[in-house]
Amino acid sequence: MGELSAALKMKCPRCGKGELFENTGILPKKGWFGMNTNCSECGLKYEKELGFFYGAMYISYMLNIALFVTVTVGYYLFFEDSVDWRGYIISYVILTLILTKWIYRMSRSLWLMIMIKYEPEKKELTK
Ligand SMILES: [Zn+2]
Repeated sequence: MGELSAALKMKCPRCGKGELFENTGILPKKGWFGMNTNCSECGLKYEKELGFFYGAMYISYMLNIALFVTVTVGYYLFFEDSVDWRGYIISYVILTLILTKWIYRMSRSLWLMIMIKYEPEKKELTK
């Protein structure tokens, strides 16, 4: 359960302590998508090889489909009579734009959880 918890908190997939991303706050200082190259706690290199994070696109796709299904079902259950279909489309697009940062980060974090074994006792400082 520790590895899922680390992935949801966007921490290192091996030790569960180091941050995956440079900026952890809501407002970006240097950029929303900057990722640390190594874990600050155990030294794990996050990007194993060039193109390692291409697999995260599939997870991003699944998260976007889940968002689309949730918004669509919510619209038809609760707002179909009161909100025009254009309002549904506009609110879906706005919600997608707002969640872009979170979906991008969560898809990479979940991809790392799938690909790297959770071993909190292992230390391999490579600095
Ligand atoms: Zn680590």
